[in-house]
Amino acid sequence: MSKTKTKFELPKLSYNYAALEPHIDAKTMEIHHSKHHQGYVDKLNKALENHPDHQSKSLEELLSGIKKLPSDLQEPVRKHGGGHANHSLFWKIMSPTSGGGKPSGDIAKAIDKDFGSFDKFQEKFKDAATSQFGSGWAWLLYQDGELLIESTANQDSPIMEGKRPILGVDVWEHAYYLKHQNKRGDWIDEFFKVIDWGKVDELYKEAK
Ligand code: MN
Repeated sequence: MSKTKTKFELPKLSYNYAALEPHIDAKTMEIHHSKHHQGYVDKLNKALENHPDHQSKSLEELLSGIKKLPSDLQEPVRKHGGGHANHSLFWKIMSPTSGGGKPSGDIAKAIDKDFGSFDKFQEKFKDAATSQFGSGWAWLLYQDGELLIESTANQDSPIMEGKRPILGVDVWEHAYYLKHQNKRGDWIDEFFKVIDWGKVDELYKEAK
């Protein structure tokens, strides 16, 4: 009997590629989703073809248990599993209709508690994003009752370290270069205008 295989798929966006303009241009969105993210999904599936025993695992299980995976599967899960998880979250926490502004509800209280104020949070988050050397991500994470701001290199997922990402921004050049070139700080400012804080609040409540 063969096991049920998990074949990972590119998630559909709930908005079209042009919907986040003028903050994120349609061309960047299209290439980012249909080429870059699709590439991570395809390569993750390919790597799992050689490992039938691990094909029924969820993405979270693969990432959180990465150290126990066969050694030749660890690197593809780190790169492509991480890439799939990171981008899947990224698309979800942006919205053309309810993006921008400031958070409210539980997440707003938690941000005030752990960072002092929303402005201080924003400053610290932007600093993490702009000071990440080379490609990577900046994150708002939940762990043990606390919010944390961290950055990771490449496609490393915070889930590998037992942390729950509830907001993340892609600082690979492919995320912003067409529009912003070398000005990563401008990209972060634009990203703040499309953050769906209602969704982040939902993810925060799930994480707790
Ligand atoms: Mn990306």
